[in-house]
Amino acid sequence: MSKILFYITFTIAGKDRDIMVIDVRLVPEGRSEIERETRLEGFEGDLPPFSESLKCTAAADRMEGTIVVSLRFAGGFGLECARCLEVYRQPVAGELRVILREEQGRYGASLDDGAGVDFYFDANHELVDISSAIYDEIMTALPLKPLCSEDCEGIKVESQDDAGDGGGKPADPRWAGLMKLKSGR
Ligand SMILES: [Zn+2]
Repeated sequence: MSKILFYITFTIAGKDRDIMVIDVRLVPEGRSEIERETRLEGFEGDLPPFSESLKCTAAADRMEGTIVVSLRFAGGFGLECARCLEVYRQPVAGELRVILREEQGRYGASLDDGAGVDFYFDANHELVDISSAIYDEIMTALPLKPLCSEDCEGIKVESQDDAGDGGGKPADPRWAGLMKLKSGR
C-alpha cells in the first residue's frame, strides 16, 4: 500500500485554495490509500459554514485506465436549529464510490452517459476534481429540518408566569384571606 497525494494547491487570484483533486499520474496499479482533509473550497458559497473540516479516507483501485475510488468522509457544519434558531454543530458523514476512466479526448464529469463512469481523464487532463461528487453526497446527508436536539422546545418565551390564566396555579398567599371571605367560609 502506498500513500498518494490527493490534492494540488492551485493559486487563483493570488489566493491559495485547495479542492478535491486526484492526480491520476500518482495513482499506482492495484490498491492504494488516500487520506485528505478539505473544506471543499470550490463550494464555499453553496455549503453551510464548516465547524470541522471533512476528513476523507479512500481506497483507490486501479486497473489500467480505470480507477475506482471508495471514499468515506466525516466532518461538521454549523447549522441553525429550525426551532430555537440557535446555531449548533451538525456532524455529517457519508461514503461514496466514484469511477474514473481514461478515454482520449474526454475529461471531467461524465454527466450520466450511462457507462457507469463518473469522471473521465486523458493524457492531457490528469487532474480529476471529484469535489462535485462529495458535495452531492453532503447535500443528501444534511438534515432537511435541522434540529439542535430531537426534543428542542423552540424559542423560550420569557415571563409566561405572569400571563393572566390563574387556572391551576396556586393563588398568591396574600389573597388567601380575601378568597375565604368571597367563598363565605
Ligand atoms: Zn433548537
